Amino acid sequence: MVNIDWKNLPFGYMKTNCNIRCYWRDGKWGELEVSDSEYINLHIAATALHYGQEAFEGTKAFRGKDGKIRLFRCAENAKRMQNSASYIKMIAPPEDLFIEAIRKIVKLNSEFVPPYESGASLYIRPLLIGSGPQVGVKPANEFLFLIFVTPVGPYFKEGFRPVDIVIARDSDRAAPQGTGHIKVGGNYAASLPGQEKAHGLGFSTVLYLDSKEKKYIDECGPANFFAIKNNSYITPESHSILPSITNMSLMELAKDMGMSVERRKIPVEELGTFEEVGACGTAAVISPINKIVDIEENKIFQYCQNHEPGPISKKLYDTLRAIQYGDLPDKFNWISFID
Ligand SMILES: *Cc1c(COP(=O)(O)O)cnc(C)c1O
Repeated sequence: MVNIDWKNLPFGYMKTNCNIRCYWRDGKWGELEVSDSEYINLHIAATALHYGQEAFEGTKAFRGKDGKIRLFRCAENAKRMQNSASYIKMIAPPEDLFIEAIRKIVKLNSEFVPPYESGASLYIRPLLIGSGPQVGVKPANEFLFLIFVTPVGPYFKEGFRPVDIVIARDSDRAAPQGTGHIKVGGNYAASLPGQEKAHGLGFSTVLYLDSKEKKYIDECGPANFFAIKNNSYITPESHSILPSITNMSLMELAKDMGMSVERRKIPVEELGTFEEVGACGTAAVISPINKIVDIEENKIFQYCQNHEPGPISKKLYDTLRAIQYGDLPDKFNWISFID
């Protein structure tokens, strides 16, 4: 084991043993190359640098009480990277190559998978970039697929903590027919002004409304939005929302708990009728939302009492985490082991 203070790991980058790279050149994928360098040698005219031709993924490896390392639904990440890539005219690694690369890099860095007791995990970041040179706006003729890993602490250091968020009425992360549905860096660049403004006002993130009419709930910062009402799990349907694997899993868990699941447009006025609301994604699983502030409309929606997360959010969070760490049986077949 490496000497790391697992209990105080931040959610940040740390150097590990190695990363993995693979190039698509002359119409085919090359070998998986293992490297201990944290740098890549990139052409100065690479399309990723100038025209944002890049897509990424995020998933985690967890160490169970039994010491075994578990991956969570990473075939879904492979498929999503293919969707992202095809929309912005890149060649993505086939699913088996993607999964082989994840398994290899986790195995080579297994001492960086935090111990069960720490509540920490190994974050896995696959990245696909246009590495070939172009000066005109055209897809690259060469692509680099790489994966690095880094151990990350639990998202909630003091436990599962509700956050305050603010509605963004003066910025959008994605256009109605743009790239909101794929996991590309450009959406994140576009989200920086809204995010910075929210932080400056003391909020943890922003709630986006649909960018056409500003009538419906869209993405919640870098995460999906969900709400609970009358034993229903409700999550917005919109072309500009990234299909979250965490959200997909929570929908299945909610159904399994006897709730109904609604995926539909959510008018902003409906915010006042929800019992619980939250954001979900790989980093935190669920960030329960304490309150949502709509500055322009002069409204505050309060959800938590005494800053306590709601019971259904808590149950969904506990259940998903227990499956990921192997404390509950994997009845949905979401886990694969690294041996
Ligand atoms: C990655 C991401 C999510 C969460 O997806 P998960 O698969 O659950 O991690 C949600 N929204 C955006 C914009 C994202 O980039």
